[in-house]
Amino acid sequence: FLTAILAIMSLVTGWILHRYLSKYTTPEENLRRAIDKGEIIPFYQPVVNGASGKIDGFEILARWKHPEAGFIPPDVFIPLAEKTGLIIELTHKLMMRVIEDLTPVMPHLPEGLHIGINISAAHGQSEVLEYDCLHLLDALSAKKITLVLEVTEREPMALTPKTLSMFARLRSHGVLVALDDFGTGYSGISYLNEFPVDFIKIDKSFVRRISNSPDSTLLVDCVIDMAKKLSLQIIAEGVETQHQADYLNAKGIHFLQGYYFWRPVPFYRLAPALLFGFHR
Ligand code: C2E
Ligand code: CA
Ligand code: CA
Ligand code: CA
Repeated sequence: FLTAILAIMSLVTGWILHRYLSKYTTPEENLRRAIDKGEIIPFYQPVVNGASGKIDGFEILARWKHPEAGFIPPDVFIPLAEKTGLIIELTHKLMMRVIEDLTPVMPHLPEGLHIGINISAAHGQSEVLEYDCLHLLDALSAKKITLVLEVTEREPMALTPKTLSMFARLRSHGVLVALDDFGTGYSGISYLNEFPVDFIKIDKSFVRRISNSPDSTLLVDCVIDMAKKLSLQIIAEGVETQHQADYLNAKGIHFLQGYYFWRPVPFYRLAPALLFGFHR
């Protein structure tokens, strides 16, 4: 009887201690542990050619696969990762997972897929990025792929000489750059003066405005015109309706991304579409 009491008591104290400790684990420690345990995984959102409906490439979007809470969206943990500098390690692990996912199917993929990866401002100062990109290109060299680094206009990277020369070296390896969230920042145009960019991604807040009411397209038309004057390739994100897709197509915008075509999906859902060319 006494041993039973003791056993129960030790269970109870163990539980209390566990609760106590987890309460005092900082969010930063939790995130660090999640990164180490491989709980940050890639989801894939295809970018389709609006005219043909075919997949031109995909964007990697991070998800935290939490053992208890389920999938945690990036808006919750990316800002913390950026603030703490964990973003470098997080992105490294994420890219390794992408290599793991893609390696077995590489020989069967179409040529020339674009792979978009989101890059935080802190990356501009870290040569880990260069190493990670070259490693990914090397590991996936069974087919021609194009790596596209998505840098956001909302929090622009500091363009130091170190950053500029790293991006120049990456460019010499065929790595391209997309300016993300185009139209939402203050820096857009002046940034483009200093930094070679290949694509701009029109932010979903503009695409969302495309509706049947004629006034609704004023702002998005303005952003599209600006993008066209810069002679860059344009990707529209956040396409949710047939009407929006048709509208963008008619404007000559051929790279479309959004729930109307695909939601971000885990790799096992992307693979059949890539291999067998399923539309949507
Ligand atoms: P983003 O780069 O602008 O990515 C597009 C976001 O819009 C994604 O949200 C995507 O799921 C969502 N989206 C796509 N199509 C639609 C649509 O039709 N309608 C609507 N309403 N939303 C759509 P998500 O995956 O929650 O990511 C949010 C942001 O978190 C991303 O915005 C990006 O800035 C950041 N992020 C995600 N993964 C990473 C990462 O690995 N590294 C870094 N640095 N940032 C990341
Ligand atoms: Ca992006
Ligand atoms: Ca963004
Ligand atoms: Ca965006």
